Amino acid sequence: MDLNQEPIICTFDENTMQDHKGKELTRLRYKDFHGVDSIALCRGDLSQALLQALPACATLRLRDNCRGEISFGKGEHCLDQLGYSYAAYDVDAVDDQSKLQSSCDSFASPKRIDNFYYLRNERVVALHIWRNMATQPQDRELRFKVLRDITKGAPPLVTTILDRAEKSGSTPIIDTLTMVNLKQWSKGRILLLGDSAHCLSLISGQGACMALASAELLSVELTNTKDVAQALVNHEKKLRPIIEKLQERTRKMAGIYIPTSLLKYHLRNMFLKLMPYSWIVSWHVKNIRCEAVCIGTK
Ligand SMILES: Cc1cc2nc3c(=O)[nH]c(=O)nc-3n(C[C@H](O)[C@H](O)[C@H](O)COP(=O)(O)OP(=O)(O)OC[C@H]3O[C@@H](n4cnc5c(N)ncnc54)[C@H](O)[C@@H]3O)c2cc1C
Repeated sequence: MDLNQEPIICTFDENTMQDHKGKELTRLRYKDFHGVDSIALCRGDLSQALLQALPACATLRLRDNCRGEISFGKGEHCLDQLGYSYAAYDVDAVDDQSKLQSSCDSFASPKRIDNFYYLRNERVVALHIWRNMATQPQDRELRFKVLRDITKGAPPLVTTILDRAEKSGSTPIIDTLTMVNLKQWSKGRILLLGDSAHCLSLISGQGACMALASAELLSVELTNTKDVAQALVNHEKKLRPIIEKLQERTRKMAGIYIPTSLLKYHLRNMFLKLMPYSWIVSWHVKNIRCEAVCIGTK
């Protein structure tokens, strides 16, 4: 499967981060972190590409818009709330008022971040994340109301994109940032993979990658032994330490992206302004390398 052959990806080169007054805090060039630009790929498009790559004998049974909790242990609760909510939607935003400064613009505010980036077909994706201790998903009927409330006084681009999305009749996905910590990922012949077993939440930006890496590792383990139960044990033994490390990092990153108090917000902004750019790059690269080594890509 070569995703580059499909017209479904959009490349973005940098992220401009501004504070709540519209002052630039930093500009992150993805090439400095990953060696290449970043790509935006819709989950639905990725699913379609994967579906086409599946052999005809494979069966998929999917239901959409569900949120639930599955675990193998009796009475085990595996949802770990991070104390934030998010909203995501996309919008047609191509005029001057809704133009982004770079391929990805972020607006930081105390206890919230508003991110916008270009998607294919010149659409813009909006992702708002804010501090919120609620644990239930938002009532979808309320549509943009909650976003209107939390973005009062936000920079003009944030309100322009919100206005446009609301007028277009779209409904944002609004949910809590939740990680999944399961004590065991399989029982008998049933195995949970990806978010259902070890959701990292969108803060990590790695959930899809780890779901794919997990499936790849499983295929290796199933090839290495005829004993399926042993293959599942080996798969979990190898992957769990990496997932736990990523979840620990996600928790830390959440507090850095969206500081939990005004003081922490100002300290973080000062740090971003004063810290040499090369130090920010080395810190990220060190983390990325560590994950790449863990999942055997480097
Ligand atoms: C706004 C947002 C931004 C994100 N950004 C990134 C990113 O930049 N990078 C990244 O790597 N990851 C990102 N993620 C995380 C990524 O989307 C997930 O980690 C990834 O989709 C997990 O794949 P999965 O196959 O395990 O689960 P899913 O993609 O959620 O697929 C599970 C499917 O099963 C269906 N289903 C659930 N229950 C049932 C049931 N009982 N019966 C039948 N079907 C059911 C669901 O409807 C869904 O279609 C983001 C997530 C969100 C929400």
